[in-house]
Amino acid sequence: MNLSVPDCVLSIKPYVPGKPLEELEREYGIKDSVKLASNENPLGSSPMALKAIQDEMENLHRYPDGSAYSLIKKLSEKLGVSPGNIVLGNGSDEVIGMLAWTLLRQGDEAILPQPSFLMYDIVVRCVGATPVYVPLKSLSIDLDGMKERITPKTRMIFVNNPNNPTGTIVTKKEFDTFLETVPPEIIIVVDEAYIEFARDQECLNGTDYLDSGRAVVTLRTFSKIYGLAGLRIGYGVMPEQVAEVLNRIRMPFNANSLAQVGAAAALDDDDFIKKTRSTIYEGLDFLCDALDRLGIRYFPTQANFFLIDVKKNANEVFEDMLRQGVIVRSMISYGFPEYIRVNVGLHEENVRLIRALETVLF
Ligand SMILES: *Cc1c(COP(=O)(O)O)cnc(C)c1O
Repeated sequence: MNLSVPDCVLSIKPYVPGKPLEELEREYGIKDSVKLASNENPLGSSPMALKAIQDEMENLHRYPDGSAYSLIKKLSEKLGVSPGNIVLGNGSDEVIGMLAWTLLRQGDEAILPQPSFLMYDIVVRCVGATPVYVPLKSLSIDLDGMKERITPKTRMIFVNNPNNPTGTIVTKKEFDTFLETVPPEIIIVVDEAYIEFARDQECLNGTDYLDSGRAVVTLRTFSKIYGLAGLRIGYGVMPEQVAEVLNRIRMPFNANSLAQVGAAAALDDDDFIKKTRSTIYEGLDFLCDALDRLGIRYFPTQANFFLIDVKKNANEVFEDMLRQGVIVRSMISYGFPEYIRVNVGLHEENVRLIRALETVLF
């Protein structure tokens, strides 16, 4: 076949997701394995979401509401924004894609923190735009460094708050100072997939900037704290002008009907959110204590995951951990050759993680 593929697409390194549990169990013949590699909710899904999804099953022969009226109304009330400010996606990944597909072209530059979420790089390259990487500074997004890389070609800047994979935040104050120096035509994408876990009072909240007259787009998801990663639903909060552009290319039924009702119900599930937060915070305390006791270095986090310095090849540690039935994420491809990323699990899972680390590292 003489397939002609644009160079920009050939330049993309395919996204490698966390290893699924079933794959580990199939390949290694291990039972009762533990996955702490994709920052998922260890408690499962919001029970209220599951109930709503079950009830919606009888309507699966119908197309979804293409305007997602109920979910968008509920979100807009909860966030104090108007429905026209919200664009749903098949996961917030899709909103990241829609931003690049509509607003970036060849010759444009997009500034990305590095390392950060790998999807930014993929969508920027996909449209032939140029990614401009700004290394993290002490594991945090370096807004000053980003400012310095702005050129007349800069069209978009990605900020991940808290940042995946480091768990660091951007403060309101840092963002305000940054915003003053960024030309107003540049779109600033603030990806807040983990914002619900952040406890630092200084933490930036991108939706506060909706009426600032600036092109700030805030991304949120139901995949993490609501425990609905498999349902694929996320959204962006943005000025109506930007939303109108995204809606031109949005597939009419990109948010499926189960996702719409599940997400709407999850928004009311305060008990589940509370329980998730306490599970994560208690788990973090437990893990940090245990790592301290073992003398293993790790980094503070504002998310449900964090980095551990294993002081040896992270891919080898990943493999050795697999043999112990624990899936973690090697950070080699993120530029941290000796770090792994783990998310907080249930107590039994956290205990397994510590035991496996002890076996593998000592
Ligand atoms: C998990 C994650 C998302 C959410 O992706 P979905 O497509 O909504 O599942 C977005 N950004 C970051 C940084 C993430 O880690």
